[in-house]
Amino acid sequence: MKKVVKFGGSSLASAQQFIKVANIIRADKERAYVVPSAPGKRYSADTKVTDMLYGCYALAEAGQDFAKELQAIKERYQEIIDGLGLELSLEQEFQMIEKNFKEKAGSNYAASRGEYLNGIIMANYLGFEFIDAAEVIFFDEKGEFDADLTDKVLSDRLEKCPNAVVPGFYGAYADGRIKTFSRGGSDITGSIVAKAARADVYENWTDVSGFLIADPRIIDNPQVIDVITYKELRELAYMGAGVLHEDAIFPVRQMGIPINIRNTNRPEDEGTWIVGSTGQKSKYIITGIAGKKGFCAINIEKDKMNSEVGFGRKVLQCFEENGISFEHMPTGIDTLTVFVHQDMFMPKEQKVVSGLHRLAKPDTIDIETNLALIAVVGRGMRATRGTAGRVFAALAHANINVKMIDQGSSEWNIIIGVKEEDFEAAIKAIYDIFVEAQL
Ligand code: ASP
Repeated sequence: MKKVVKFGGSSLASAQQFIKVANIIRADKERAYVVPSAPGKRYSADTKVTDMLYGCYALAEAGQDFAKELQAIKERYQEIIDGLGLELSLEQEFQMIEKNFKEKAGSNYAASRGEYLNGIIMANYLGFEFIDAAEVIFFDEKGEFDADLTDKVLSDRLEKCPNAVVPGFYGAYADGRIKTFSRGGSDITGSIVAKAARADVYENWTDVSGFLIADPRIIDNPQVIDVITYKELRELAYMGAGVLHEDAIFPVRQMGIPINIRNTNRPEDEGTWIVGSTGQKSKYIITGIAGKKGFCAINIEKDKMNSEVGFGRKVLQCFEENGISFEHMPTGIDTLTVFVHQDMFMPKEQKVVSGLHRLAKPDTIDIETNLALIAVVGRGMRATRGTAGRVFAALAHANINVKMIDQGSSEWNIIIGVKEEDFEAAIKAIYDIFVEAQL
């Protein structure tokens, strides 16, 4: 068995956290490759090193003095080095960083130094080899991640080395220039390393004991999801449930490697398993609930719409021409509604409306704003009669008016549109009926 372990910023924010991490790694010989993030927040008002680096580099780029800001970053690392009692000095590294900042090496380079330096400390502390991600993770000229080249180079490299630390979040173009993934991207690096190592498990260590069934800001102490499929996760993540970077599932998914979300502060918890497919029933009929505010609905009516071939295409063309992607499009006989992100739609509202009049010639167009969408996701729903009935009965009892229902063909995802002001109450009602009532 071989495991790749990725630790998030809060797991590596201080020397105390590093010690917990090292204990976790040493407790299991199979934990062969480590992917660290940059040091995160030590307390809620603290600043992540990545943000400090962006701020510091912005000054450098503007030609201003950044010595104080760079010193503050240096101190964050020194505190960790001292706390761990290491002999290590990052002096030369910081001289190089200062020089590159002055030469305006770019904000990607700047941000990447957070994980780079943390990787050096981690490798030194564990006695593992340090592999600079710039040598093994590649981007093409368009800035897209080059999966094939990376897998080839990285798997060759890992084969020669039984234990290593590969810093998260960045890689390089063919000419050596550094490029980062989007924020939270160390999750992606972990997944890439797991794939290249042909690992049995990708453990993603963070500060929660797994994926929660619902948002803890809405539900007090929600239950943890024990097993979730990639597909279910994708639906929930799309609707705003965030523990893992959205793109992190793709590399491991191709290889059928499961992801185990774990809590550095509670290593005894099993966490959540994210798997390709499973016959394992989820504890509850639903696996999770997630949702987002900030949608609007464009309701379009036209007599005999249902018999007009191409009507839907004309409507969608108006959105496409304005660069607006649509979320859902439920239809009636002579009505059709398009759900879109409000912040994307509003600035172009009148352009879309006039386009609709010109192209689709509807009788009426009515726009409803401040809506929320909620996804109720669960592979268990397919085999259970009456799930939709229970969802809507719960919402009716909570006095919530349902604006839209979209079950799609998969039968394991029901999307519900409600007014924004009903959003929290709707999630509570659904959680109560499927989870609370079963406890
Ligand atoms: N340090 C980077 C960030 O704050 C990447 C990561 O932690 O995954 O976004």
